[in-house]
Amino acid sequence: MRVFSLSCLSVSFLPLLASAVKRREVPKYDNTTYPKSHSTYTKTTVAVLGAGLAGITTAQALSNQSIDDFIIVEYNDVIGGRVVHTTFGGYTVELGANWVQGLDSGVPGGPVNPIWILAQKYNLSNTYSDYDSILTFDQTGYNDYSDLLDTFENAYSIMEEDAGYILTNNLQDRSMRAGFRLSGWEPCSMGDLQMAAEATEWWKFDWEYAWTPEESSELYATTNYNTSFYQWSDENNYVWDQRGFNTVVGEAYTFLSLNDTRLWLNTVVTNILYSDKGVTVYNEDGSCIDAKYAVCTFSVGVLQHDVVTFEPDLPVWKQQAIAGFQMGTYTKIFLQFSEIFWDPNTQFFLYASPTTRGYYPVWQSITAPGFLPDSGIFFVTVVKQQSYRIEKMSDEEVLAEVLAVLQQMYPNIMIPQPTAFMFPRWTQVPWAYGSYSNWPPGMSLEMHQNLRANLERLYFAGEATSAPYFGVLQAAYYEGREVGERIAGMLTGDCLNTNWKDTGTGNTTAGGVTCSNDKHYVELHGTAPIEQY
Ligand SMILES: Cc1cc2nc3c(=O)[nH]c(=O)nc-3n(C[C@H](O)[C@H](O)[C@H](O)COP(=O)(O)OP(=O)(O)OC[C@H]3O[C@@H](n4cnc5c(N)ncnc54)[C@H](O)[C@@H]3O)c2cc1C
Repeated sequence: MRVFSLSCLSVSFLPLLASAVKRREVPKYDNTTYPKSHSTYTKTTVAVLGAGLAGITTAQALSNQSIDDFIIVEYNDVIGGRVVHTTFGGYTVELGANWVQGLDSGVPGGPVNPIWILAQKYNLSNTYSDYDSILTFDQTGYNDYSDLLDTFENAYSIMEEDAGYILTNNLQDRSMRAGFRLSGWEPCSMGDLQMAAEATEWWKFDWEYAWTPEESSELYATTNYNTSFYQWSDENNYVWDQRGFNTVVGEAYTFLSLNDTRLWLNTVVTNILYSDKGVTVYNEDGSCIDAKYAVCTFSVGVLQHDVVTFEPDLPVWKQQAIAGFQMGTYTKIFLQFSEIFWDPNTQFFLYASPTTRGYYPVWQSITAPGFLPDSGIFFVTVVKQQSYRIEKMSDEEVLAEVLAVLQQMYPNIMIPQPTAFMFPRWTQVPWAYGSYSNWPPGMSLEMHQNLRANLERLYFAGEATSAPYFGVLQAAYYEGREVGERIAGMLTGDCLNTNWKDTGTGNTTAGGVTCSNDKHYVELHGTAPIEQY
């Protein structure tokens, strides 16, 4: 067996696991009996790398086509990946995915979000997030600037039309900031209302994408919103199930047995060797897997951190795509109070800092009716630069800032000390390195396709590889399922998804069927030849 000196490295990453992102339990799984290392050289047909939602739907698709010879390799001691919860103040709270985003078109036989189907199948406790249930604040306390929310919505509708025009006429994309500006929304020119407008914009945009409008594509952010919320419904349902949102990932146990030996938990992949003959996967514990095919479902954050070595080196077109896509950080900061001093009937509370955009802006109460009224839990979200900033601070320092903001929001009361306080440091989690991906301005569909495209027998899937749904659970669900069906098609000669036929360079299998390689683009060109510069 080949042993890499690199295999020792990731041991040193373990302490970096955010204190709050605890390894958690899936109720049915007994990890005391599970083998902790795999010292043998193992042959399999398909190696599925990662047991987040994409890894699970990959394996499920294989299983559905009777490809049962697979191994799922997972860093953590449970499945679910970024669908992860912890116990906080006696309640289960979600550190990662929290909402089912877009539910059901309501049309009989019409489209339904697959995550909503799973939520219903597993009877997940969830409640509609009412974005009209919001109070607005600034440094002086309650200050009703809710008119700005309507002003923003009007501009957003104009921007949507503009994005549609870009799409249908194949025009050059622009940043969401440019799109907003062209639609008449520009906080910087709103005088005294600027910071209220910044908070409004943050709540309507950054809170969803975890990046600023400057850093996001107008075209792809708009289509991303529309594919979920216009195709299914515009409802976002907040999951507060005390079993945890990852109950839906228990779907894995419809095709895996408990303690299934094909699920290698606590196993960290360090090296991936790929060729047109197969893929060899080396793990930190010294084990290695020889597979005909492999699917890498690691986040774009993991790929960007170079913690997994690919051999041969990734081609330039793949490296550029990985470097070009964006991994955002979305941080929920949880507080629990023994007394509720905020309006118990309101779901959201928007704070406009007088100086800093994105400074503890969106507060959410899960003591509101329909959620967990007795929990006393109030949480605030920050993203991106503010997430990076607070991740470098101690819990005590962050708590002091958070309480100071609450004191501004409620100047007439003395804000009590919370009975519990916690936030995860997603940027530092070594199996994710961030929260979810986002499409930057300037990234073309072709460059994104390069993120998705296979390298010989090594395939890629995960939320980031989905052009229509990137970022959210449905992206991971569809991408995993599609790649699983594709590989099953190549192995069985039965290509289930005809969309894949003829889309790539072709990879005719022994069965004579082309489920196809993904198309990739070795060179991506700009619009202006050198003479025009
Ligand atoms: C804070 C936060 C909030 C979110 N909110 C929502 C939301 O409200 N709604 C929504 O739909 N989505 C939300 N998301 C996004 C959603 O969680 C992801 O889109 C989805 O879970 C990604 O699934 P995946 O399978 O693509 O990746 P992952 O879940 O990251 O799965 C990849 C797996 O690979 C494993 N892995 C990584 N490196 C290695 C290695 N070297 N060796 C072995 N295994 C490895 C990981 O442990 C992980 O289990 C949120 C995410 C976060 C973090």
